[in-house]
Amino acid sequence: MTLRVDVLSLFPEAVRAYADTSVLGRARERDVWQLVVHDFREATGDVHRSVDDTPYGGGAGMVLTPEPIARTLEDTPGLARPVIALTPSGTPFSHAVATRLAQLGGFTLLCGRYEGFDQRILDTVVDEEVSLGDFVLAGGELAALCIIEAVVRLLPGGLGNDESSVEESFGAGLLEYPQYTKPATWRGREVPALLRSGNHAAIARWRRAQALRLTIERRPDLIERRGGLSAQERELLEEMGVVESPAQNG
Ligand code: SAM
Repeated sequence: MTLRVDVLSLFPEAVRAYADTSVLGRARERDVWQLVVHDFREATGDVHRSVDDTPYGGGAGMVLTPEPIARTLEDTPGLARPVIALTPSGTPFSHAVATRLAQLGGFTLLCGRYEGFDQRILDTVVDEEVSLGDFVLAGGELAALCIIEAVVRLLPGGLGNDESSVEESFGAGLLEYPQYTKPATWRGREVPALLRSGNHAAIARWRRAQALRLTIERRPDLIERRGGLSAQERELLEEMGVVESPAQNG
């Protein structure tokens, strides 16, 4: 099934340009996903084609008027659901959210600009709000593209090789183990000998231990979320000489 993503934006060319590039472009050529971009300025009724106005109550900046957005959504045949507004106050985006979206037939992303959306749009036509993180961008386009890329990478055929995203960071609730490539010695630094041993079982155990070590060090919250370490994992860490941080013991 081809994932359908509708994007409402005032900068449709910016969205299209990135979506045509690299992983996203190739996945579209393979019909893994399809993109329908809508410039909601085209749904304006006035001669100035204005999409924003001053905020009630005063204050700096302009707010997006609700009608062009609502009309674009209503007039689009086969619009993908749910409708997701990109807002700094939405649910933080994560691997879990990407996984949920990858299981749907599609979704629509609303990209804001200026001071953002009129609240009535969020209260009526929007199903959920998603944030890229605790910072403020000038518009929702980069957030939309980040979400699309994270989701498409998870789709069957999204990377042209179904195995590629399985062992990556967050895939199994852990960060990824360190990766090395050639040359074996670079500026006096050696690739761990075990990775050149050809012993695939030992390599898999080393990688597992390193993924656990890195996650314990950098993201103890991820370890906590998966219910701590199993007895087997503790044994593996001990065997590999990886010392758990005190916060993770017990
Ligand atoms: N006045 C808004 C506020 O303080 O929450 C910020 C508006 S921002 C300048 C303009 C648009 O960029 C937003 O409507 C939203 O679509 C997008 N945007 C900015 N930061 C974002 C974030 N962290 N996650 C998702 N979208 C964001």
